Amino acid sequence: MKKSEDEWKKTLRPEEFLVLRKKGTEPPFTGKYVHQTAEGTYVCAGCGNLLFSSDTKFDSGSGWPSFFTPVASDAVVLKPDRSLGMNRTEVLCARCGGHLGHMFDDGPTPTGQRYCMNSVSLRFLKKEKV
Ligand code: FE
Repeated sequence: MKKSEDEWKKTLRPEEFLVLRKKGTEPPFTGKYVHQTAEGTYVCAGCGNLLFSSDTKFDSGSGWPSFFTPVASDAVVLKPDRSLGMNRTEVLCARCGGHLGHMFDDGPTPTGQRYCMNSVSLRFLKKEKV
């Protein structure tokens, strides 16, 4: 999915554009999904790509919504990020290339990974009651 930055600017809200396209970070404990515990799925706010399930969400205490795995390994792209003098792993949406957050190796079992996401990069879809 290729869109020009101008197109993204028109379709995303300013705070979404800042994170998804400019790799910004929302301040901790400000995002709407930090304490979200309802059952459902999280999709990319940029393109709707299915990214995370509530089944893998955990309270990391970091102030950002955290998951121990994406729904599929090819839903996201991991990329070394040496910005700000740190050695981190950036997490991008595999479909639109939007910046989602970072992945750290201090997560819980079974993966030991912590996908530290920005709420504004995600959209929560509540599970329908059947
Ligand atoms: Fe996306």
